Amino acid sequence: MAIRNIMNYQKDDILRKKSKTVEKIDGRILSILDDMAETMYQADGAGLAAVQIGILKRLVVIDAGEGLIKLINPEIVSSYGEQQETEGCLSIPGIYGTVKRPEQVEVSTLNENGDSVILKGTGLLARAFCHEIDHLDGILFIDKASPESLYNSDASTERK
Ligand code: ZN
Repeated sequence: MAIRNIMNYQKDDILRKKSKTVEKIDGRILSILDDMAETMYQADGAGLAAVQIGILKRLVVIDAGEGLIKLINPEIVSSYGEQQETEGCLSIPGIYGTVKRPEQVEVSTLNENGDSVILKGTGLLARAFCHEIDHLDGILFIDKASPESLYNSDASTERK
């Protein structure tokens, strides 16, 4: 396992590209997922998409406090309700904003063994599913956040 460099929205255009479907789950894919998990935990994030470490594959890791989840080719198949909470992103350091998301989603995905499974997420986990799956299509939370809610946590810090 290895900690990878996290792409930054101000200099890495790759974050705006669409990730490709994973055709074969082999040792290389599993090792990318391991690196993604390690990188996410080291950065203290709740989720990470492969594009955020510069790899245009439809891979996501999430830990929203309910344990590590690895997703391969995930898709949201149903959503219910609405929530508006503050979001941030490891690729957009210091910036936070309010995003409207479904309260609950169901995600169809492959797991590490190549089995097709349906996962249900509510609250923070639902938000993490939506945020990370957006990354696979080049969408960032700042595109969806209400503009007046966006703030820079660094800017409010007093400089000495
Ligand atoms: Zn993100």
